Amino acid sequence: MFGNRIRLFSLFGFEVRMDPSWLVIAVLVVWSLAKGYFPYMQPGIPPRIYWFMGVAGAAGLFISIVFHEFWHSLVARQFGLPMKGITLFIFGGVAEMGEEPTNPKTEFLMAAAGPLSSLVLAALFYAGSTMGKGMQWSRPIIGVMDYMTYMNIILAVFNLVPAFPLDGGRILRSILWAWKGDFRWATKIASTVGSGFGIFLIVMGVLNVLRGNFIGGMWWFLIGMFLRSVAGSTNRRLQTRKALEGEPLSRFINRNPVTAPPDISIETFVEDYIYRHHYKFFPVVDNGHLVGCVSTKEIKEIPREEWPRRSIGELARNCSAENTIAPDADAVEALSAMNRTGASRLMVTQGDRLIGVVALKDMLDLLALKMELEG
Ligand SMILES: [Zn+2]
Repeated sequence: MFGNRIRLFSLFGFEVRMDPSWLVIAVLVVWSLAKGYFPYMQPGIPPRIYWFMGVAGAAGLFISIVFHEFWHSLVARQFGLPMKGITLFIFGGVAEMGEEPTNPKTEFLMAAAGPLSSLVLAALFYAGSTMGKGMQWSRPIIGVMDYMTYMNIILAVFNLVPAFPLDGGRILRSILWAWKGDFRWATKIASTVGSGFGIFLIVMGVLNVLRGNFIGGMWWFLIGMFLRSVAGSTNRRLQTRKALEGEPLSRFINRNPVTAPPDISIETFVEDYIYRHHYKFFPVVDNGHLVGCVSTKEIKEIPREEWPRRSIGELARNCSAENTIAPDADAVEALSAMNRTGASRLMVTQGDRLIGVVALKDMLDLLALKMELEG
């Protein structure tokens, strides 16, 4: 979903990243606060100060979004779900999950934590602003605090709309899931509501544009499109899982995969393996023993001039357990592992022996055949 994200900082073990698209939002927020919102809400302050307030408001929005996503992540981690970190992008923030929650209670608590934290933050800013007014704090500070109160309420309320993938949609899904015990059915309903809400936003957007509110209207329109696309792809992913459920992994194992010896240079490896076989990922095997694996990801981090003198053996050792799977796993487990790491190939291992490799492509080929024959 994201291209080149900028790593910002790490918060209690969660990496906070920013998609460059968020910068567009930051500029828009600063501008609309300094030129519209603050002059309207707090008239009579020197124009220069409005720009400072705009920057403070945008920074506050950033912090509020990170705070909201942080609480999702924290609760998720508490329940043992692997979290990939927090990313801010053009439509706000997202706490990226490696896996879907395993039971309705986890999903409910995880989803509710975000809006709840936003409401707590809104209450704190409201208290701060009320106190500030009593103590005659300067108006710019109070103005920004009032904006933060308002923004956090909006964040909580918008996210509570029961339209998947919004938090409210996840809450709805968890309740339906707990009620009937059917995760797929619950996802279907919640993402149908999500799609419907997306269409509603798109229509509202078009109406707004027709009425002359171009920027606001485009905004509704784009958010609507985004919700629809996420709701749709979640549902599709689930149908994929359904089709592959119970398929033993052994069906997909290539038992004679191309492997590389540990003592060749990175340069040779790139020429003779990556460019020849067109895979991004190779197991490294030494006399029948698995040393590890090397993918384009590790190689990209080594400067080009070092390629001739460094061997792939040293890179291979960093390739960890997340790229391996046991031979008795099923296809859905392999899909989850691939989804977690972003890899399209996994090593099937037993002890330090390589049994073979499974590729996403082979699983998708079977899927396509099943769709064709079974509908
Ligand atoms: Zn949320």
